[in-house]
Amino acid sequence: MGSPHIAAKTGATDTAPAVEVSDLHKTFGELEVLKGVSLTANTGDVVAIIGGSGSGKSTLLRCINMLELPTRGAISIKGETIEMQPDGRGGLKPASAGQLRRIRTRLAMVFQSFNLWQHMTVLGNVIEAPVQVMGVPRDEAIARAETLLERVGLSDKRDVYPAFLSGGQQQRAAIARALAVEPEVMLFDEPTSALDPELVGEVLAVIADLAREGRTMLLVTHEMNFARDVANQVVFLADGVIEEQGPPDIVYSAPKSERLQKFLATVQ
Ligand code: ADP
Ligand code: MG
Repeated sequence: MGSPHIAAKTGATDTAPAVEVSDLHKTFGELEVLKGVSLTANTGDVVAIIGGSGSGKSTLLRCINMLELPTRGAISIKGETIEMQPDGRGGLKPASAGQLRRIRTRLAMVFQSFNLWQHMTVLGNVIEAPVQVMGVPRDEAIARAETLLERVGLSDKRDVYPAFLSGGQQQRAAIARALAVEPEVMLFDEPTSALDPELVGEVLAVIADLAREGRTMLLVTHEMNFARDVANQVVFLADGVIEEQGPPDIVYSAPKSERLQKFLATVQ
């Protein structure tokens, strides 16, 4: 299934990178977690972000969709730079609430822990943002949600509450929910790390399907073989900086940095 809506959204230019992160810094108190990260994802890129625990992978994704506010640096989505201003405490804050709201609907994030709304059915979860945030008529949102649920193999769970689903089903519902806002960029933060091993494959299959249709995505994962199969760019984050990056075949088979060599030895 294609998504005809992607290119039609707000002022996107075909030539601007889908995501451009420039010299991003993020400090929590005394702890400098991101120490100047610059990263470009072009439209259709699948960027796998790998690295040890605590290296700043989640913080990077969370800064890109402004769940965390960067301390310094710039982020652009399809050429539109998120306007930020000093927050008076040494960091930055969004300069325009309107722009932030708009940009957020162009990105969708899938979390390790699913984060479905427990008091809503699967369908309720999928239609919530389209109806409440984007103003899509309910009937239309439901029709589209049904298509998305079919796509992730959950048509029969439409009216079920998350507590009655397996982890794999919950994550597939979360992916359908992410797709429902017709995002231009999808951010996945270890989408299979919380799953029992036998449920990992069904979620990876859905993500691989999205990658094949040319979706732009940034994917934090420990599934190294999967990253090699779906990503066209691998970024190795170590201690808050990009230590190495490149096409998966090169990064995996000829890692230059000693840290990456060590990391690959521990995960493969
Ligand atoms: P990763 O996803 O690579 O495991 P994170 O980005 O989650 O790493 O975390 C990087 C570092 O930042 C860790 O040391 C973590 O404890 C710290 N950190 C993350 N979020 C916060 C926060 N909200 N407040 C303070 N420290 C944080
Ligand atoms: Mg993390």
